[in-house]
Amino acid sequence: MANSSNAKLIKTANLLREAIPKMSQLNIPLTPENYHVWYEYTMGSSLELNRAIDKLLKDGTTFTKEINQKLYSTHIYKAPEESFQQSIQKLVTTLFEKITGMTKKTQSFSTSLEKYNDVLKRDPDIDTIANLIINLIDDTDSVLESNQSMESMLKAMNEEVDILRNNLQALNEEAFTDKLTAVPNRRAFDKKMEHLFDDYHNEQQVFSLLLIDIDHFKQFNDTHGHTVGDRVLKYVASVMTGGIKGDDMLARYGGEEFVVLLPNTGYEDAVAVGNHIREKVSSNKLVDNNAQKKVLGYITVSVGVAAITEKDNLDSIVERADKALYLAKECGRNRVMGERDL
Ligand code: GH3
Ligand code: MG
Ligand code: MG
Repeated sequence: MANSSNAKLIKTANLLREAIPKMSQLNIPLTPENYHVWYEYTMGSSLELNRAIDKLLKDGTTFTKEINQKLYSTHIYKAPEESFQQSIQKLVTTLFEKITGMTKKTQSFSTSLEKYNDVLKRDPDIDTIANLIINLIDDTDSVLESNQSMESMLKAMNEEVDILRNNLQALNEEAFTDKLTAVPNRRAFDKKMEHLFDDYHNEQQVFSLLLIDIDHFKQFNDTHGHTVGDRVLKYVASVMTGGIKGDDMLARYGGEEFVVLLPNTGYEDAVAVGNHIREKVSSNKLVDNNAQKKVLGYITVSVGVAAITEKDNLDSIVERADKALYLAKECGRNRVMGERDL
């Protein structure tokens, strides 16, 4: 009995483990409807749905909002199979029933599970599910301590929860990484910036910021094509990543613009890092590996530098770096300008 329930739980977790990263890979928003579509697809419950999705995948079609909605309305809306939401709910319900049946000592744990069950009924978003899983782990731990007889069952449950947590962690990492260049994205930058800002106010720990923009990149694209441009963006990102260390963070700010956050770094040192990165980028003559070793020439970047001050808010430091960057462009590009040059 316990084994067959465990097997069911493991199956559900496995389906989740497959479905969620795939959706994320295809840029499909993690809505309950889309979960449902991909849960069913992974389970293979509808031949028609699987054929439709396989064809879309084979054709390399982008999963637009319209396509996602059509998949849901055509194949899922009337399908009798259980949804992702229902499956998680079932998982919690099963655990709930097992635990309440086993011992009275677990009263508080049962109450928690009831509460989680209620949360799941309200179509929670991914963050809510992530929180719920963390709480479940905490609760599981405390029950483990208080009741040895439940150990094996809770171990199985812990494994399920671990799998879910790993899925969410992978999703989280993807959410903070730029797809093209594999460096942290704007969202990751915003988060780090908030932390640094807090540290500055709470612990007087200074930081500086570099705004870096590739010079004449439009012209580069026009000359060599967007695909080569993309490869060069990747290359420049990796060269610049090699130019920073420790807690420093390079992120893609957007388009051909990058940002570097330098914790514990004052203005002069930040200017020096900016120059180091600028020199690193400009010192290599680029050759296209994929074509007939076509020489692409040199790529340069312009850099704007600003250091945190008492008066700053989250936007004003970026605005000053942006003004300095603009000045670097005006002064002829391939150079570093700081707020003190303004
Ligand atoms: P400047 O020296 O003043 O910065 O000139 P620029 O041409 O780099 O600046 P502009 O803002 O006019 O154009 C930026 C160009 O960067 C436009 C676009 O072609 C290119 N770009 C932005 N994002 C990408 C991308 O993801 N891939 C490729 N290949 N090109 C991109
Ligand atoms: Mg540019
Ligand atoms: Mg730009």
